[in-house]
Amino acid sequence: MRLFDLHCDTAGECFNGKKSLLRSDLHIDLCKGEYLDEWMQIFAIWIPDELRGEAALDYFKKVHTNFIEQINLNNGKIEMYQRISEVNSNKKHSICKAIVACEGGSPFAFGDGIEVAKSYGVKVVTLTWNAENELGYGCQSGSENGLKPLGKRILKDMAANKIVADVSHLNRKGFYDAIQSEAAVIASHSNSVSVLEKYRKYSEDKFFSCRRSLDDEQIKLLSERGGLIGLNFCKSFLGDEGDDGFEAAYRHLYHMLELGAENTLAIGSDFDGCEINPELCGVDKMPAFEAFLRSKGFGDNLIDKIFFENANKFFKSILQN
Ligand SMILES: [Zn+2]
Repeated sequence: MRLFDLHCDTAGECFNGKKSLLRSDLHIDLCKGEYLDEWMQIFAIWIPDELRGEAALDYFKKVHTNFIEQINLNNGKIEMYQRISEVNSNKKHSICKAIVACEGGSPFAFGDGIEVAKSYGVKVVTLTWNAENELGYGCQSGSENGLKPLGKRILKDMAANKIVADVSHLNRKGFYDAIQSEAAVIASHSNSVSVLEKYRKYSEDKFFSCRRSLDDEQIKLLSERGGLIGLNFCKSFLGDEGDDGFEAAYRHLYHMLELGAENTLAIGSDFDGCEINPELCGVDKMPAFEAFLRSKGFGDNLIDKIFFENANKFFKSILQN
């Protein structure tokens, strides 16, 4: 089985909890993923909304340093992504290929910030987390404004430096600004508002889940633009308590497929960043999830597209060199 996961928070959890990337109680560790024939994993460094400017960059550097140490300690089981073309030639060994992302753009929100991001090997920047930052307004900010001038400028730098813009967590207006930019755009870990509207009972938490998810028009736009949408396993973004496992995940995929997202869908697990139903809570649960989707009628080709190939193709074309 092949897996290309667009989002996890494991790097931050390893740093903050002093945990080993090799073996731990986290959703992702290298032993849990050992069965995979190919494994591309985007490790996001999440920037808390309390940190801005220098403090955000300092925190990013600390988590990044710790992550590199973990990679060096586990040489032979994980390596940093260099070029996608090299990744696929390495089929005999199931080495985890790590891609670094930054969730929240604050560390790089200054003049030549994107050059700094590039120097740390960052390939994906999620523009905001839930609140407002220097680039724009997150889905919880309450603002209906679009991206700030610096956000729009940085998208140009991202396009020029082949760094992917991630619109998960961004508010609606910011999403449309990003989609109209020259940058390559993905929603690394976002689900469908329509499915939540239909299957979740009303609560404050549902209100947030819907703001944080993509409406049908956004799903269509990302598909038409050749982007990616990673299915988020977070319980409250899938469904109601107790109805937030395989079946709920299938509903989101099915709905997005109906909207034409066959070549857009991917996995954006959010492992180690949220609460997950036991059916989905770990990289070792992916074979069972795959078997479930098969039982629902998903064929080999579609399954491989969702679990690996759509994301692989996208990153191959964006990050060739
Ligand atoms: Zn997130």
